[in-house]
Amino acid sequence: MTRISSKGATPAMAQWFTLKAENPEALLFFRMGDFYELFFDDATAAAAALDIALTARGTHAGEPIPMCGVPVAAAPAYLARLIRRGFRVAVAEQTETPRKGRPANKGPLARGVVRVITPGTLTEDELLEPGRSNLLLALALTAPQTKGKGKKAEASFADIVIGAAWIDVSTGLFETESLTGKGLPALLGRLDPAEILAPAMLNLADYEARRAPETVASGADTARQRLASAFDVASIEAFGTFTDEESVAAAMAVEYVQRSQAGKLPRLAHPVPQNESGILGIDPATRASLDILRARDGGDEHTLFSAVNRTVSAAGARMLAEWLAAPLTHAGQIAARQAGWWWLKEDAVRREALRGTLKKAPDIARALGRLSLGRGQPRDLAAMRDGLMVAREAARILTASNASLPPALHQAVTRLGGGQVLEAELARALAENLPARLDDGGVIAQGYDAKLDEYRGLRDDSRRLIAGLQAKYAAHYGLNSLKIRHHAQLGYVMDVPVAASAKLKDKPELILRQGTASNARFATEELSTLDARITEAAEKAAQCEKELFGALVEQVLAERSMPVLAQALAVLDVLQSCADLAGNGTWCRPEVTEDFAFALEGCRHPVVEAALPAGTRFTPNTCDLAPQQRVMLLTGPNMAGKSTYLRQTALAVILAQGGFPVPADRVRIGVVDQLFSRVGASDDLARGRSTFMVEMTETAAILNQAGPRSLVVVDEIGRGTATLDGLAIAWSVLEALHSSVRCRAIFATHFHELSRLVDTLPRLSLHTMAVREWRGQIVFLHEVLAGSAKKSWGVHVARLAGVPHAVVDRAGRLLRELERAENTIPEPLPLFDTQKTLPPEPQNTISKRLLDIDPDSLTPRAALDLLYELRKEAAQEEHAQVAD
Ligand code: ATP
Repeated sequence: MTRISSKGATPAMAQWFTLKAENPEALLFFRMGDFYELFFDDATAAAAALDIALTARGTHAGEPIPMCGVPVAAAPAYLARLIRRGFRVAVAEQTETPRKGRPANKGPLARGVVRVITPGTLTEDELLEPGRSNLLLALALTAPQTKGKGKKAEASFADIVIGAAWIDVSTGLFETESLTGKGLPALLGRLDPAEILAPAMLNLADYEARRAPETVASGADTARQRLASAFDVASIEAFGTFTDEESVAAAMAVEYVQRSQAGKLPRLAHPVPQNESGILGIDPATRASLDILRARDGGDEHTLFSAVNRTVSAAGARMLAEWLAAPLTHAGQIAARQAGWWWLKEDAVRREALRGTLKKAPDIARALGRLSLGRGQPRDLAAMRDGLMVAREAARILTASNASLPPALHQAVTRLGGGQVLEAELARALAENLPARLDDGGVIAQGYDAKLDEYRGLRDDSRRLIAGLQAKYAAHYGLNSLKIRHHAQLGYVMDVPVAASAKLKDKPELILRQGTASNARFATEELSTLDARITEAAEKAAQCEKELFGALVEQVLAERSMPVLAQALAVLDVLQSCADLAGNGTWCRPEVTEDFAFALEGCRHPVVEAALPAGTRFTPNTCDLAPQQRVMLLTGPNMAGKSTYLRQTALAVILAQGGFPVPADRVRIGVVDQLFSRVGASDDLARGRSTFMVEMTETAAILNQAGPRSLVVVDEIGRGTATLDGLAIAWSVLEALHSSVRCRAIFATHFHELSRLVDTLPRLSLHTMAVREWRGQIVFLHEVLAGSAKKSWGVHVARLAGVPHAVVDRAGRLLRELERAENTIPEPLPLFDTQKTLPPEPQNTISKRLLDIDPDSLTPRAALDLLYELRKEAAQEEHAQVAD
């Protein structure tokens, strides 16, 4: 913001300057009456972002002050738009209430920033997505590394130790983890945080835009002390073991949240250290290629999430998203989830009953978040009451039968107990029809509190008396048009039309309070007394109601079973969602094992299947990557379904290891530790990386990170460069995956020449997408068969896509010529020479080949193979020379 001096500002503007200086990074919403006003650059930016009128208010330093404003009542909608556009907003309220008789010369009412709204610290339903977590992530490095800027720090980035801590202010979730720089991209991809606190030297790549203004990290000891005092324990070791970096990050996150809430700390679960080792590794490129939670357009239609989500509550949807984002690697834990939903699948009656009950579940976690910040409204208390009722009902449904429950369900049921006293209290305390806001009154039920009933009685009796006065005065003064009304400034007055008012002018008992063009308003002693009594009783009732509300909130926050119960209801919702999905028999319960098995039978792509036009059937396919054929080379024309097949295989792993049903007939998967999927070309022009550069960077990432337990599915490696370069790269990458990485892999390619590698790579299997030729046209069967494709059919697909006839015809002729020419090349690269025997090599072949070898890049196995090969060639040469 352009620096403007506050010199000469009016008292109200001087206040604005002070508050703005304390919150330079945020737009200042400055409360003035029923509006939040914005001034200067804030006004210009907000008016543009919100598409509202930019006006001016008074002058400063001789210039008009740009201003815009939003009504307080409509603020949440405007705030939501600003936050979505990446703004942060500081809300300044009047911290002093205007009192009657306050002298005007006392200056403006005191104001203070009561909250800074940032993307990672939201609590309002209007600002949040119901089915998604909203995380604030803090990252911290150890002291020596933070100092080392520049080249040296970059070089060791992969190995530096990072402490991560993340908080969802809206639900109280608080977790930490210690990781190395290498693991950071995967963590960012998995958490998809709304806001990130990180030292400037830490590169956040695609998440750079979510960086919050830098905060100062404290030392590890101070951080531990701060955390301990925030959670009121002697030491945070009470919650687990935290590295120094984790403690620093956790303290940083807590302090940031506290500052954003004007010093108040919301209810947070105590920090829980996580261990990444139990989670399937999915790097950001893989996530992007698989549309797990978000599609490439940022929406959630056509995602894995939308294809499997049958949850009926917001908390259930959030948990399902978490399970999908972080599938497990422990077969036992996976089986426990499966057993939970399988039980519900088998018992359709109980499942339906549970589903019906969970539909009524309010968002307990988020309501708790608001209540803990003093931002709760009547419906948040009602959420507790209804949540407890749903929990009781759900537990009853599950325990009604004599059948023993699987551990996952049993555990959930035990967590649903508790809170009966609170439930009864809330049921008694809350009125039947709750107002939207506490200030509206009428939250507490009649009969709950004697004092409140008394004030309300006084208020209502006086109102009744006033209502009776209208008839009395009308008769007394002979004026039928006389009304008694309540007026915001004047209180209760007698209101008569001007024409009739002349009659009342001389009455000594009447005091003229106001005359307008049409009406005259009078007060009487009696009215004023009743008015004062009503105001006093109403104020006392409101105050009493606030106190009772506060006491109920305290009781809710003291009930420790509430967050646990909310979590258990969410788990039940995810399990019933899985059961529902598996209910019609087209999704199976996969077998997840500790070995290296990999067999998908009749597997489908859940998102593509759902998007197929009515009447079109998805063709299921088999995928067998058993150890003896763990690498599949997949060829086939464009549009034949290769990408779909690759993705469905990767998605099957995510679903199976997330504990979900899989859209297949039968599935057996030996636990995968890291999943790599590169399907569909992308570029990254914003960061100056071409399509090919991105492709090679991602290929490098796979080759450097994948191991024997990984699954790699890659599409068209080497397509982004010249044919021979590309072919050579594809060849060597395939060899490396097969012989060095030794992982399970599907390698889809248009380089049909690679099929020849089946002779030298023993674990390679050849598969192709079936197509049928019919009158020169191509029909896609979407079926994966053993074998390899003979051609790519690119020209046919170009015709299908609507490329003009002339161009397609010309391309067809050129293709035929090129194919003829290729066939007549006298000495093709050995690679292309599929049928013929090799022409005689020149005399010095062996020494030439030796010079071409880079011994450092050979694996011992490849070196040995090469040695045999060279020896064989030498023997042949010898033989040939002898024959000559
Ligand atoms: P390209 O090489 O051009 O990227 P591709 O071989 O990867 O093509 P896909 O994108 O996987 O082809 O599939 C093309 C379309 O074919 C899909 O959008 C889908 O409509 C349909 N399709 C793919 N697989 C199947 C299947 N198994 N059953 C039915 N339809 C399918």
